Amino acid sequence: MKYLSTRGDGTPRGFCDILLEGLAPDGGLYLPTHYPQVDEATLSRWRGLSYADLAYEILALYIDDIPAADLRRLAHATYTQATFGTEAITPLVRLEEDLYLQALSNGPTLAFKDMAMQLLGRLFEYELGRRGEELNILGATSGDTGSAAEYAMRGKQGVRVFMLSPHGRMSSFQQAQMFSLQDANIHNLAIEGVFDDCQDIVKALGNDLEFKRRHRIGTVNSINWARLLAQVVYYFAGYFQATRGNAERVSFAVPSGNFGNICAGHVARMMGLPIEQLVLATNENDVLDEFFRTGRYRVRGSAQTFETSSPSMDISKASNFERFVFDLLQRDAVRTAGLFGPLLAHEGGFTLEGAEFARVAGYGFVSGRSTHADRVATIRDAWRRLGVMIDPHTADGLKVAREHRRKGVPMLVLETALPAKFADTLREALGREPERPAALQGLEELPRRFSVLPADAQRVKRYIETHCS
Ligand SMILES: *Cc1c(COP(=O)(O)O)cnc(C)c1O
Repeated sequence: MKYLSTRGDGTPRGFCDILLEGLAPDGGLYLPTHYPQVDEATLSRWRGLSYADLAYEILALYIDDIPAADLRRLAHATYTQATFGTEAITPLVRLEEDLYLQALSNGPTLAFKDMAMQLLGRLFEYELGRRGEELNILGATSGDTGSAAEYAMRGKQGVRVFMLSPHGRMSSFQQAQMFSLQDANIHNLAIEGVFDDCQDIVKALGNDLEFKRRHRIGTVNSINWARLLAQVVYYFAGYFQATRGNAERVSFAVPSGNFGNICAGHVARMMGLPIEQLVLATNENDVLDEFFRTGRYRVRGSAQTFETSSPSMDISKASNFERFVFDLLQRDAVRTAGLFGPLLAHEGGFTLEGAEFARVAGYGFVSGRSTHADRVATIRDAWRRLGVMIDPHTADGLKVAREHRRKGVPMLVLETALPAKFADTLREALGREPERPAALQGLEELPRRFSVLPADAQRVKRYIETHCS
């Protein structure tokens, strides 16, 4: 399998060539040259597999530059009951007739990002070891992504993490989760500023090409193809659990921000998984809902990006969206480059019209949005009537899922985080503390390891230089 860029760079690259990279050199995103097709016989064979074996089968379709035995070993080391809490890894929880939650949040940081990041950590260690190289991952976080990255990379050979976060501004749970890591290769840098300051510093250092090259600086952001690929697996796993035969179809409802999670659903559907609808749910930051309703993609500025009670979906533009538009435009790289290059930069968006926009329906996408009041009402209803406690992001998914149900088609709502991470909203909705997994009791009492630095790129640079060997 080779990979190409959505903006036209067709230099043939293998999986391991793009594994450690972010954007393609032309500014596009990597996609496989084609989607391998999964036929009926293959679906039947996969139906009985364990999650780790299923993961191996799917990964092997896209990765031909890691020996099969090694890839199988990496998949088995990643998707274990010890890490994800159950043998099923992503079990279904029945809510009502034909309505399920698919649990994706029982990994180490209680959010679905662990599903991909845990594999990424092992792939990085493997590939860096093979090349005899090292990588220093630099990132900024306001919560979920940073902790998922740290828990995936902790103790891994050849990898160091420098994660910037706004000092004193994360939830106490998130701070405790990240800062209690004692691994020597994990560096928590608490920056005296807000999240934007952290991100500006990361950008400034990213533009310093000499520094980047000399210290082998990399990232783990959500446009990484390996993360997307790892997420394809749970769409298959959910389908097999919700159906008895391959003639049945299911729909997925996906709480969305950067379009990474639902883009994996799109890939699964392109491979032939019988998905009826991909239901995209946003919060008040509804840039994607607006596109799927109207064809208009309008990136928001920071003043129009709201801070909501489902914070991991507070995005102003969706970094993975270009992948879907590339497919929608029948892989016209010139058009894609035009839309996401100059038009986005100068006009803040674009509109697809007529026959082009009409094609969206053929890809199964529908959408909806949810507000704080919807979230609270949905959390309350799920708890009082169904006895299930859900987090605010999952509540956005469930609210929008209900608006798109079709008779006889199971709807699977992807649970993207556990309620324990969002105690304030749970308290507001239910008047009680969220349930917390036993392993995380007393997390706030653990010793913490972090360094406070001013919001100054030079100081961060110096910190990295003195700690990266
Ligand atoms: C990251 C995240 C999302 C959004 O996922 P995307 O892949 O960015 O669309 C939704 N919910 C939670 C809890 C997340 O951490």
